[in-house]
Amino acid sequence: MDAFDHRSIGHRLDLFHFQEEGPGMVFWHPKGWALYRLIEDYIRRRMKAAGFNEIKTPQILARAFWEKSGHWQKFGPHMFALEDGERQFAVKPMSCPGHLQVFNAKLRSYRDLPLRYAEFGACHRNEPSGALMGLMRTRAFVQDDAHVLCRMEQVAEEVKRFSQLLRAVYRDFGFADFAVAFSTRPAVREGSEELWDTAERVLQNAARGAGLDYALQPGEGAFYGPKLEFSLQDRLGRRWQCGTIQLDLVLPQRLGAQYVDEDGAKQVPIMIHHAVLGSMERFIGMLLEHWQGRLPLWLAPEQVLVAAVSAQYFGYAEEVAIQLEADGFRAAIDASNETLPKKIVGWRDRGIPILAVVGAREAEKARVNLRILLDDVRAELPLREAADWIKRMARRNGVAATTPT
Ligand code: ZN
Repeated sequence: MDAFDHRSIGHRLDLFHFQEEGPGMVFWHPKGWALYRLIEDYIRRRMKAAGFNEIKTPQILARAFWEKSGHWQKFGPHMFALEDGERQFAVKPMSCPGHLQVFNAKLRSYRDLPLRYAEFGACHRNEPSGALMGLMRTRAFVQDDAHVLCRMEQVAEEVKRFSQLLRAVYRDFGFADFAVAFSTRPAVREGSEELWDTAERVLQNAARGAGLDYALQPGEGAFYGPKLEFSLQDRLGRRWQCGTIQLDLVLPQRLGAQYVDEDGAKQVPIMIHHAVLGSMERFIGMLLEHWQGRLPLWLAPEQVLVAAVSAQYFGYAEEVAIQLEADGFRAAIDASNETLPKKIVGWRDRGIPILAVVGAREAEKARVNLRILLDDVRAELPLREAADWIKRMARRNGVAATTPT
């Protein structure tokens, strides 16, 4: 495994590990989980601002339910099945059927639409053990899943809304550019030809309306509807499919979703499947490789490492860390007895964006010596000015200092 692989980076930064007893399942360590939570909280805020309501649906549902939704027939071999002694159950491979149950929980009117749900859906899929690959391909993963239930004439507005969201989020993670693929009806599909004609036309127009420059992928759509897929290019030039906007003409009908229209007639809503990052695990793996472990300031689990040139200045190092924490940064102290050059090597290895060095001069005059990992810019300044300087430098590097809102 080379040093550029996210598994090596994860080990070096002490973020996570895998072990034989849990194939394809992640043991997150404190710093890795801090990173995970930073991303989750950020997405949660973004989804809320975009009008999505967060929900949570069951991990395990009766097998009969999965048969009704059609997932048992399509995904059966990839689903983990179990029983309680009386009934058979299966662990969810995705959250979509669950979201429709929330929709179905009461009688819906056209006035309720569009209804937007989001869930950090913990999913399990029985991938063959030979196909597992670190965070990139796991058996247990969390989708930043979202669904919109709406009418066909509302699809364009929803696609535009979600495309804007994707653009903003990818920029915050340091991906300036993304590619979009538009996939049309596959050979094996469900739903009438007229419905497909309408769905493809609506999605295509919506993509144009949202200013998306897409490549056409004829025949690559899902069996239930056409889709737009968003992929990011990392610094090694590889493309990763992350975001998705998929129209679904099948599932709402199959699971009995209905709303009452202006004339009092029952209608079946369109379902749009959305994801911004796709799998949280895979996105983190990609992020680690893209940044080579040197995460942008707002994403670093530890943002500033405070190091004293010798043990007698540990007290002042602590003061500096407390001040930086008060200024809203995550600061750690290097309390090792290593020499300063060794501490600097450790700082680089751990990918911490900022190093603060303190010694006699700094302690005496309440100052601090700051260094940025990314471009090795240095400054020596009063402690009270440190936070502003760090924020200014982060902006100069085109990244946020704190979680973007
Ligand atoms: Zn879905």
